[in-house]
Amino acid sequence: MEDGADLRLRFDGKELLNLATNNYLGLSTHPAVCDAASRAAREQGTGSGASRIVTGNSSLYEKLEREIASFLGTESALVIGSGYAANLSWLGALAGRNTVVFSDRLNHASIVDGIQLSRAKHVRYRHCDMKHLADLLEKHRDVEQKILVTDSVFSMDGDCAPLREIVDLCEEHGVLLALDEAHASGIWGEGRGLAHALGLADAVDIHMGTMSKAWGGYGAYVAARADIVALVRNRGRGFVFSTSLPPSVIAGNFAALFRIRQNPNEGQRLLGMAQELREVLGKLGFETGGSETQIIPVLMGRNEDALFARDFLLTKGVFVSAIRPPTVPAGTARLRLSLRADMVQEDLELVKSAFTELAKEIQSHE
Ligand code: PMP
Repeated sequence: MEDGADLRLRFDGKELLNLATNNYLGLSTHPAVCDAASRAAREQGTGSGASRIVTGNSSLYEKLEREIASFLGTESALVIGSGYAANLSWLGALAGRNTVVFSDRLNHASIVDGIQLSRAKHVRYRHCDMKHLADLLEKHRDVEQKILVTDSVFSMDGDCAPLREIVDLCEEHGVLLALDEAHASGIWGEGRGLAHALGLADAVDIHMGTMSKAWGGYGAYVAARADIVALVRNRGRGFVFSTSLPPSVIAGNFAALFRIRQNPNEGQRLLGMAQELREVLGKLGFETGGSETQIIPVLMGRNEDALFARDFLLTKGVFVSAIRPPTVPAGTARLRLSLRADMVQEDLELVKSAFTELAKEIQSHE
C-alpha cells in the first residue's frame, strides 16, 4: 500500500478512500501547508539543533505560541514536541506526591503514564460516569491538591466527555480541570475544541491539544494562565529535556492554524457528514456505540469478524482500521472510521454503499 495520510491511496493498482488516519481536515497534504513547511526547511534546515531552553528557540516558535493563545483566548501557550510529551510534561509539572488526579478510565495512555510518573495518587472513574466521579470526589473532599483530567473526544469510541457536569463538579470541589482536546482541536468550536463549542472554555484551567491530528502536522500545545504555562516551561521534563521541533514542523503548524481560522465551519461540516453516515449504519443494523463525532466505531465483537469486515471493505475501495484488544476491551473489536473534511459527497456515498454490501454479506453468512 502507498504510504501516507492522503485521502486517496493506491493498493494493488486500485484506489482506496483512506478513513484510517487522524488527518481529519486533510491538512497534511494541503499545498499551502506543505509550501510553508518546505520553505522553512530550505531556509532554516531540517533540525532545530537543541532543546528550546538551550538554543532550539526561534521567532516562529514564539509567534505560533502567541497565535495559539490568541486563538484559544488564554493568557499563554507552550508548544511541546508531541502530545505524549505534553501530557507527561504538564502532569509532571503540576502534580506530585500530595496530588490526587481524577482520570476517566478510557483516557489516553499518555495521561495514564503522566500521572504515574508524577507520583500523584491516580483515581480512575468509570468512563463518563458522573455518579462514580461525584462519589470519588466526595471521598477525597479533604485533599488540598486535586486535578481532573479527561479526553474531550475519546479516540476509540468517538464519544464526548460530559463536560458541563465535569465543570460543575470541579467548581464544587475546587479541582483544577485539564482537557485533552487531541481529537477535537481543529474541529469542534470553530477549531478551538469541545470546551469552546460548549461555551465552557473559561472553566477549563489547562487546554491541551495536538497538532498531529486535525492540524495535519506534529507537536502539541498546552494553553492556560501564564503562571501555569510558566511552571510547565520550567518543570515539564518532556519539554525541558527534549530537542525542540524542526522549523519545518513549526511553519507547517502555523500554516495549518491559519487555514483552520480561515475555515471555521469545516469541522461542523465534517460532524454533519458523520451524523449522516451514523444514521445509515444504524439502519443497516450496525452498532456505532456512543459516537457523536467524526470518529465512528463500528462494533464487530470478535477479532475475526472485525478483520473480515476490514478486508471486505478494502475490496469495495474503503480503507478503515480494525481495532482489537488490548487497544479496546476484550470482545469489542471494531472498525474505526475517521471521517475527514476533505471528503466530498461522492466519497460518503461510496462508504454507505460499501457498508450496505457488507451488511448483505454478513446476513448471507448467518
Ligand atoms: N492524547 C490523545 C487523546 C491522543 O489520542 C493522542 C495520540 N493518539 C495523544 C494524546 C498523543 O499525541 P501524539 O501522537 O501527538 O504524541
